[in-house]
Amino acid sequence: TRTETTHYFGAGPALLPTSVIKQAAEDLIEYQGSGLGLGEISHRSAPAVAVVDNTKSNIKQLLNVPETHEVFFLQSGGTGEFAAVAYNMLAAFAKKTGKKGKADYIVTGTWSQKAAEEAKRLGVDVNIVVNGKKSSPTGKYDRIPEPETWNAFGSAEDTAYVYYCDNETVNGVEFPYVPKVPEGVELVADMSSNVLSREVDVSKFGVIFAGVQKNIGIAGVAVVIIKKLLLEKPSDEELTALNIPLAPIVFDFPTLVKNNSLYNTLPIFNLHVVYLTTKLLLDNGGLEVQEAVSNKKAEKLYATLDSVPEGVFNLLVEKNSRSRMNIVFTVIGGGKEKEFLDGAKAKGMTGLSGHRSVGGIRISNYNAVSEESIDYVCSWIKEFAS
Ligand code: PLP
Repeated sequence: TRTETTHYFGAGPALLPTSVIKQAAEDLIEYQGSGLGLGEISHRSAPAVAVVDNTKSNIKQLLNVPETHEVFFLQSGGTGEFAAVAYNMLAAFAKKTGKKGKADYIVTGTWSQKAAEEAKRLGVDVNIVVNGKKSSPTGKYDRIPEPETWNAFGSAEDTAYVYYCDNETVNGVEFPYVPKVPEGVELVADMSSNVLSREVDVSKFGVIFAGVQKNIGIAGVAVVIIKKLLLEKPSDEELTALNIPLAPIVFDFPTLVKNNSLYNTLPIFNLHVVYLTTKLLLDNGGLEVQEAVSNKKAEKLYATLDSVPEGVFNLLVEKNSRSRMNIVFTVIGGGKEKEFLDGAKAKGMTGLSGHRSVGGIRISNYNAVSEESIDYVCSWIKEFAS
Protein backbone atom coordinates (compact mmCIF):
# COMPACT_ATOMS: atom_id res chain seq x y z
CA THR A 1 0.00 0.00 0.00
CA ARG A 2 1.24 3.47 -0.88
CA THR A 3 1.82 5.40 2.33
CA GLU A 4 3.67 8.50 3.41
CA THR A 5 6.55 6.24 4.40
CA THR A 6 6.93 3.79 1.56
CA HIS A 7 10.39 2.30 1.99
CA TYR A 8 11.54 2.43 -1.62
CA PHE A 9 15.18 3.08 -2.49
CA GLY A 10 15.19 2.64 -6.28
CA ALA A 11 17.68 4.74 -8.24
CA GLY A 12 15.33 6.03 -10.89
CA PRO A 13 12.61 6.49 -11.75
CA ALA A 14 12.50 7.01 -8.06
CA LEU A 15 10.26 7.68 -5.11
CA LEU A 16 8.45 11.03 -5.03
CA PRO A 17 6.61 12.59 -2.13
CA THR A 18 3.26 10.88 -1.64
CA SER A 19 1.48 14.23 -1.39
CA VAL A 20 2.88 15.20 -4.80
CA ILE A 21 1.83 11.95 -6.44
CA LYS A 22 -1.67 12.16 -4.96
CA GLN A 23 -2.15 15.73 -6.17
CA ALA A 24 -0.72 14.84 -9.60
CA ALA A 25 -3.11 11.88 -9.86
CA GLU A 26 -6.07 14.20 -9.23
CA ASP A 27 -4.78 16.72 -11.76
CA LEU A 28 -4.35 13.98 -14.35
CA ILE A 29 -8.06 13.30 -14.11
CA GLU A 30 -9.24 16.89 -13.94
CA TYR A 31 -7.24 20.10 -13.70
CA GLN A 32 -8.63 23.19 -12.01
CA GLY A 33 -12.28 22.37 -12.67
CA SER A 34 -11.86 22.41 -16.44
CA GLY A 35 -13.40 19.00 -17.07
CA LEU A 36 -10.09 17.90 -18.62
CA GLY A 37 -6.97 16.37 -17.18
CA LEU A 38 -3.49 17.85 -17.52
CA GLY A 39 -2.44 15.21 -20.05
CA GLU A 40 -5.28 16.24 -22.32
CA ILE A 41 -4.98 20.00 -22.68
CA SER A 42 -3.02 21.82 -25.38
CA HIS A 43 0.54 22.63 -24.44
CA ARG A 44 -0.16 26.13 -25.74
CA SER A 45 -3.26 26.75 -23.59
CA ALA A 46 -3.08 29.27 -20.74
CA PRO A 47 -3.04 26.64 -17.93
CA ALA A 48 -0.20 24.76 -19.68
CA VAL A 49 1.85 27.91 -20.19
CA ALA A 50 1.29 28.69 -16.50
CA VAL A 51 2.75 25.27 -15.59
CA VAL A 52 5.85 26.10 -17.63
CA ASP A 53 6.21 29.59 -16.17
CA ASN A 54 5.55 28.57 -12.57
CA THR A 55 7.91 25.59 -12.68
CA LYS A 56 10.61 27.81 -14.15
CA SER A 57 10.00 30.37 -11.44
CA ASN A 58 10.24 27.73 -8.68
CA ILE A 59 13.56 26.42 -10.02
CA LYS A 60 14.92 29.95 -10.35
CA GLN A 61 13.98 30.66 -6.74
CA LEU A 62 15.33 27.39 -5.38
CA LEU A 63 18.70 27.69 -7.10
CA ASN A 64 18.95 31.48 -6.97
CA VAL A 65 19.41 31.45 -10.73
CA PRO A 66 21.07 34.76 -11.66
CA GLU A 67 19.78 37.10 -14.40
CA THR A 68 22.62 35.90 -16.63
CA HIS A 69 21.03 32.45 -16.92
CA GLU A 70 17.80 31.00 -18.32
CA VAL A 71 15.81 27.89 -17.40
CA PHE A 72 13.95 25.75 -19.92
CA PHE A 73 12.50 22.27 -20.38
CA LEU A 74 12.47 19.65 -23.11
CA GLN A 75 11.75 16.00 -23.76
CA SER A 76 15.21 14.52 -23.97
CA GLY A 77 15.94 12.62 -20.82
CA GLY A 78 19.49 12.75 -19.55
CA THR A 79 20.86 10.87 -22.54
CA GLY A 80 19.37 13.33 -25.03
CA GLU A 81 21.30 16.05 -23.23
CA PHE A 82 24.58 14.23 -23.87
CA ALA A 83 23.99 15.04 -27.54
CA ALA A 84 22.22 18.37 -27.07
CA VAL A 85 25.01 19.97 -25.04
CA ALA A 86 27.61 18.83 -27.59
CA TYR A 87 25.77 20.44 -30.52
CA ASN A 88 24.85 23.61 -28.68
CA MET A 89 28.17 24.22 -26.96
CA LEU A 90 30.06 23.83 -30.24
CA ALA A 91 27.66 26.27 -31.90
CA ALA A 92 28.03 28.85 -29.11
CA PHE A 93 31.82 28.52 -29.22
CA ALA A 94 31.81 28.99 -33.00
CA LYS A 95 29.78 32.17 -32.58
CA LYS A 96 32.37 33.50 -30.13
CA THR A 97 35.55 32.42 -31.94
CA GLY A 98 34.66 31.50 -35.52
CA LYS A 99 36.16 28.05 -34.85
CA LYS A 100 35.10 24.51 -34.12
CA GLY A 101 36.04 23.93 -30.50
CA LYS A 102 37.18 20.84 -28.67
CA ALA A 103 35.67 19.45 -25.47
CA ASP A 104 37.22 18.23 -22.24
CA TYR A 105 35.45 15.41 -20.40
CA ILE A 106 35.99 14.53 -16.75
CA VAL A 107 35.00 10.86 -16.59
CA THR A 108 34.19 9.59 -13.11
CA GLY A 109 31.57 6.93 -13.83
CA THR A 110 29.20 5.27 -16.23
CA TRP A 111 27.20 8.37 -17.12
CA SER A 112 30.06 10.73 -17.88
CA GLN A 113 31.66 7.92 -19.87
CA LYS A 114 28.49 7.57 -21.95
CA ALA A 115 28.33 11.34 -22.44
CA ALA A 116 31.94 11.41 -23.70
CA GLU A 117 31.23 8.51 -26.06
CA GLU A 118 28.15 10.25 -27.44
CA ALA A 119 30.04 13.51 -28.07
CA LYS A 120 32.73 11.55 -29.92
CA ARG A 121 30.08 9.78 -32.02
CA LEU A 122 28.74 13.16 -33.07
CA GLY A 123 32.12 14.37 -34.27
CA VAL A 124 33.36 16.31 -31.25
CA ASP A 125 37.11 16.31 -30.66
CA VAL A 126 36.95 14.84 -27.14
CA ASN A 127 39.84 15.10 -24.70
CA ILE A 128 39.48 12.88 -21.62
CA VAL A 129 40.99 15.01 -18.88
CA VAL A 130 40.74 12.20 -16.38
CA ASN A 131 39.22 8.74 -16.23
CA GLY A 132 38.41 7.64 -12.70
CA LYS A 133 38.45 3.96 -13.62
CA LYS A 134 41.85 4.05 -15.32
CA SER A 135 43.48 6.00 -12.54
CA SER A 136 42.09 3.83 -9.75
CA PRO A 137 44.17 0.89 -8.49
CA THR A 138 40.96 -1.15 -8.37
CA GLY A 139 40.20 -0.51 -12.06
CA LYS A 140 36.72 0.64 -11.03
CA TYR A 141 34.94 3.97 -10.89
CA ASP A 142 35.35 4.35 -7.16
CA ARG A 143 36.82 7.82 -6.70
CA ILE A 144 37.30 11.29 -8.05
CA PRO A 145 41.03 11.34 -8.70
CA GLU A 146 42.91 14.27 -7.17
CA PRO A 147 42.72 17.23 -9.58
CA GLU A 148 46.54 17.52 -9.49
CA THR A 149 46.71 14.18 -11.34
CA TRP A 150 44.37 15.23 -14.18
CA ASN A 151 45.65 16.03 -17.67
CA ALA A 152 45.67 19.70 -18.58
CA PHE A 153 42.41 21.32 -19.64
CA GLY A 154 42.27 23.01 -23.02
CA SER A 155 42.29 26.80 -23.15
CA ALA A 156 39.54 29.33 -23.74
CA GLU A 157 40.96 29.72 -27.28
CA ASP A 158 40.33 26.12 -28.36
CA THR A 159 37.91 24.48 -25.91
CA ALA A 160 34.16 24.89 -26.16
CA TYR A 161 33.38 23.29 -22.81
CA VAL A 162 34.42 21.06 -19.92
CA TYR A 163 31.90 18.36 -19.05
CA TYR A 164 31.38 16.42 -15.85
CA CYS A 165 28.69 14.44 -14.03
CA ASP A 166 28.06 15.84 -10.54
CA ASN A 167 26.68 12.57 -9.19
CA GLU A 168 27.37 9.22 -10.80
CA THR A 169 24.19 7.28 -10.08
CA VAL A 170 25.53 3.82 -10.93
CA ASN A 171 28.90 4.07 -9.21
CA GLY A 172 27.91 6.17 -6.20
CA VAL A 173 30.56 8.83 -6.80
CA GLU A 174 29.65 12.48 -6.20
CA PHE A 175 31.69 15.67 -6.52
CA PRO A 176 32.04 17.44 -3.18
CA TYR A 177 33.18 20.56 -5.09
CA VAL A 178 32.73 22.25 -8.45
CA PRO A 179 35.68 21.43 -10.72
CA LYS A 180 37.88 24.44 -11.37
CA VAL A 181 38.25 25.08 -15.08
CA PRO A 182 40.40 27.62 -16.94
CA GLU A 183 39.08 31.18 -17.12
CA GLY A 184 36.75 31.60 -20.08
CA VAL A 185 36.00 27.88 -20.58
CA GLU A 186 32.36 26.95 -20.03
CA LEU A 187 31.47 24.24 -17.55
CA VAL A 188 28.66 21.75 -18.29
CA ALA A 189 27.25 19.56 -15.52
CA ASP A 190 24.92 16.58 -15.52
CA MET A 191 22.97 16.85 -12.26
CA SER A 192 20.30 14.27 -13.12
CA SER A 193 20.62 12.37 -9.88
CA ASN A 194 21.39 15.11 -7.37
CA VAL A 195 19.57 18.14 -8.72
CA LEU A 196 17.87 20.19 -5.99
CA SER A 197 19.46 18.14 -3.23
CA ARG A 198 21.91 20.91 -2.35
CA GLU A 199 22.68 24.54 -3.05
CA VAL A 200 24.60 25.31 -6.23
CA ASP A 201 26.35 28.46 -7.41
CA VAL A 202 24.76 28.57 -10.86
CA SER A 203 27.00 31.45 -11.96
CA LYS A 204 29.92 29.02 -12.25
CA PHE A 205 28.20 27.02 -14.99
CA GLY A 206 27.61 27.40 -18.69
CA VAL A 207 24.99 24.65 -18.60
CA ILE A 208 23.43 22.49 -15.92
CA PHE A 209 21.03 19.80 -17.03
CA ALA A 210 19.01 17.11 -15.30
CA GLY A 211 16.61 14.41 -16.36
CA VAL A 212 13.94 14.90 -13.69
CA GLN A 213 12.96 11.30 -12.92
CA LYS A 214 15.06 10.78 -9.82
CA ASN A 215 14.85 13.71 -7.50
CA ILE A 216 12.14 15.99 -8.81
CA GLY A 217 9.72 14.30 -11.17
CA ILE A 218 8.66 11.47 -13.41
CA ALA A 219 10.42 10.50 -16.64
CA GLY A 220 9.69 12.60 -19.70
CA VAL A 221 11.27 15.98 -19.08
CA ALA A 222 14.74 17.39 -18.68
CA VAL A 223 15.54 20.73 -17.07
CA VAL A 224 18.28 22.88 -18.55
CA ILE A 225 19.83 25.96 -16.97
CA ILE A 226 21.95 27.88 -19.45
CA LYS A 227 24.04 31.03 -19.50
CA LYS A 228 22.16 33.38 -21.84
CA LEU A 229 25.36 34.28 -23.71
CA LEU A 230 25.52 30.67 -24.93
CA LEU A 231 22.24 31.10 -26.79
CA GLU A 232 23.98 33.02 -29.60
CA LYS A 233 24.89 30.82 -32.56
CA PRO A 234 26.09 31.16 -36.17
CA SER A 235 23.78 30.44 -39.12
CA ASP A 236 23.29 26.83 -40.23
CA GLU A 237 25.44 27.58 -43.31
CA GLU A 238 28.29 28.89 -41.17
CA LEU A 239 28.09 25.87 -38.85
CA THR A 240 28.14 23.47 -41.79
CA ALA A 241 31.14 25.26 -43.28
CA LEU A 242 32.95 24.74 -39.98
CA ASN A 243 32.07 21.03 -40.02
CA ILE A 244 29.92 21.44 -36.89
CA PRO A 245 26.87 19.15 -36.89
CA LEU A 246 23.52 20.93 -36.74
CA ALA A 247 21.39 20.17 -33.69
CA PRO A 248 18.06 18.51 -34.47
CA ILE A 249 15.59 21.35 -34.01
CA VAL A 250 14.05 19.77 -30.88
CA PHE A 251 17.52 19.94 -29.26
CA ASP A 252 18.37 23.44 -30.46
CA PHE A 253 18.64 25.45 -27.23
CA PRO A 254 18.14 28.93 -28.77
CA THR A 255 14.96 27.71 -30.51
CA LEU A 256 13.62 26.16 -27.32
CA VAL A 257 14.29 29.26 -25.22
CA LYS A 258 12.81 31.59 -27.84
CA ASN A 259 9.61 29.51 -27.70
CA ASN A 260 9.39 29.36 -23.90
CA SER A 261 10.05 25.57 -24.01
CA LEU A 262 7.01 25.12 -26.26
CA TYR A 263 8.51 24.85 -29.74
CA ASN A 264 7.07 21.35 -29.87
CA THR A 265 4.76 19.44 -27.52
CA LEU A 266 6.05 19.44 -23.98
CA PRO A 267 4.63 16.78 -21.63
CA ILE A 268 2.81 19.24 -19.41
CA PHE A 269 1.58 16.66 -16.93
CA ASN A 270 5.13 15.42 -16.35
CA LEU A 271 6.31 18.99 -15.91
CA HIS A 272 3.46 19.61 -13.46
CA VAL A 273 4.91 16.88 -11.24
CA VAL A 274 8.15 18.89 -11.22
CA TYR A 275 6.12 21.98 -10.34
CA LEU A 276 4.51 20.21 -7.37
CA THR A 277 7.86 18.85 -6.16
CA THR A 278 9.61 22.20 -6.42
CA LYS A 279 6.70 23.92 -4.67
CA LEU A 280 7.00 21.46 -1.80
CA LEU A 281 10.74 22.13 -1.59
CA LEU A 282 10.07 25.88 -1.42
CA ASP A 283 7.32 25.43 1.17
CA ASN A 284 9.73 23.34 3.27
CA GLY A 285 12.33 26.10 3.34
CA GLY A 286 14.28 25.67 0.10
CA LEU A 287 17.60 24.05 -0.66
CA GLU A 288 19.41 25.08 2.49
CA VAL A 289 16.95 22.93 4.42
CA GLN A 290 16.93 20.12 1.84
CA GLU A 291 20.72 20.00 1.75
CA ALA A 292 20.88 19.63 5.53
CA VAL A 293 18.29 16.84 5.42
CA SER A 294 20.03 15.04 2.52
CA ASN A 295 23.39 15.25 4.26
CA LYS A 296 22.00 14.05 7.58
CA LYS A 297 20.38 10.99 5.98
CA ALA A 298 23.53 10.15 3.99
CA GLU A 299 25.71 10.55 7.08
CA LYS A 300 23.45 8.17 9.00
CA LEU A 301 23.80 5.54 6.28
CA TYR A 302 27.56 5.78 5.97
CA ALA A 303 28.03 5.89 9.74
CA THR A 304 25.96 2.72 10.06
CA LEU A 305 27.85 0.93 7.28
CA ASP A 306 31.23 2.08 8.63
CA SER A 307 30.32 0.82 12.10
CA VAL A 308 29.80 -2.75 10.88
CA PRO A 309 32.83 -4.96 11.60
CA GLU A 310 34.98 -5.84 8.58
CA GLY A 311 34.07 -8.87 6.51
CA VAL A 312 30.34 -8.18 6.12
CA PHE A 313 30.10 -5.36 3.60
CA ASN A 314 32.48 -3.89 1.12
CA LEU A 315 32.00 -0.15 0.69
CA LEU A 316 33.07 0.55 -2.83
CA VAL A 317 33.76 4.27 -2.96
CA GLU A 318 36.60 6.31 -1.44
CA LYS A 319 35.39 8.36 1.51
CA ASN A 320 35.94 11.79 -0.04
CA SER A 321 34.01 10.85 -3.20
CA ARG A 322 31.04 9.13 -1.60
CA SER A 323 27.68 10.04 -3.06
CA ARG A 324 25.05 11.42 -0.73
CA MET A 325 22.41 10.18 -3.18
CA ASN A 326 23.42 6.63 -4.15
CA ILE A 327 25.13 4.58 -1.48
CA VAL A 328 26.73 1.50 -3.04
CA PHE A 329 28.27 -1.56 -1.42
CA THR A 330 28.54 -5.31 -1.82
CA VAL A 331 27.75 -8.01 0.70
CA ILE A 332 30.68 -10.33 1.24
CA GLY A 333 30.13 -14.09 0.87
CA GLY A 334 28.29 -16.33 -1.58
CA GLY A 335 24.52 -15.93 -1.43
CA LYS A 336 24.74 -13.19 1.19
CA GLU A 337 23.63 -10.44 -1.14
CA LYS A 338 20.41 -12.27 -1.88
CA GLU A 339 19.94 -12.86 1.83
CA PHE A 340 20.32 -9.12 2.45
CA LEU A 341 17.83 -8.21 -0.29
CA ASP A 342 15.32 -10.92 0.65
CA GLY A 343 15.46 -9.91 4.30
CA ALA A 344 14.92 -6.28 3.37
CA LYS A 345 12.00 -7.18 1.13
CA ALA A 346 10.38 -9.20 3.89
CA LYS A 347 10.49 -6.01 5.99
CA GLY A 348 8.90 -3.94 3.22
CA MET A 349 12.06 -2.39 1.76
CA THR A 350 12.51 -2.53 -2.02
CA GLY A 351 14.60 -0.98 -4.79
CA LEU A 352 17.90 -1.93 -3.16
CA SER A 353 19.61 -3.88 -5.96
CA GLY A 354 22.66 -2.28 -7.52
CA HIS A 355 22.68 -1.28 -11.20
CA ARG A 356 22.68 -4.35 -13.44
CA SER A 357 26.14 -3.39 -14.76
CA VAL A 358 27.81 -3.47 -11.34
CA GLY A 359 25.59 -5.57 -9.08
CA GLY A 360 25.76 -5.25 -5.31
CA ILE A 361 23.46 -3.08 -3.23
CA ARG A 362 22.51 0.53 -3.91
CA ILE A 363 20.52 2.60 -1.45
CA SER A 364 19.21 5.70 -3.14
CA ASN A 365 18.76 8.60 -0.77
CA TYR A 366 16.79 11.01 -2.92
CA ASN A 367 14.82 13.93 -1.52
CA ALA A 368 11.59 11.95 -1.12
CA VAL A 369 13.19 9.16 0.90
CA SER A 370 12.21 9.94 4.46
CA GLU A 371 14.55 9.94 7.43
CA GLU A 372 12.30 7.23 8.83
CA SER A 373 13.06 5.03 5.81
CA ILE A 374 16.77 5.66 6.26
CA ASP A 375 16.53 4.74 9.95
CA TYR A 376 14.62 1.63 8.99
CA VAL A 377 17.20 0.44 6.46
CA CYS A 378 19.99 1.31 8.91
CA SER A 379 18.42 -0.94 11.52
CA TRP A 380 18.22 -3.75 8.95
CA ILE A 381 21.89 -3.23 8.05
CA LYS A 382 22.81 -3.58 11.74
CA GLU A 383 20.57 -6.59 12.26
CA PHE A 384 21.92 -8.34 9.16
CA ALA A 385 25.51 -7.66 10.16
CA SER A 386 24.99 -9.03 13.66
N1 PLP B 1 22.78 11.01 -16.24
C1 PLP B 1 22.64 10.45 -15.02
C2 PLP B 1 23.48 10.98 -13.91
C3 PLP B 1 21.75 9.42 -14.81
O1 PLP B 1 21.62 8.86 -13.60
C4 PLP B 1 20.96 8.96 -15.89
C5 PLP B 1 19.96 7.88 -15.72
O2 PLP B 1 19.95 7.11 -14.82
C6 PLP B 1 21.13 9.56 -17.14
C7 PLP B 1 22.04 10.58 -17.27
C8 PLP B 1 20.35 9.10 -18.32
O3 PLP B 1 19.05 9.55 -18.21
P1 PLP B 1 17.89 9.07 -19.19
O4 PLP B 1 17.60 7.65 -18.88
O5 PLP B 1 16.78 10.02 -18.85
O6 PLP B 1 18.37 9.26 -20.60
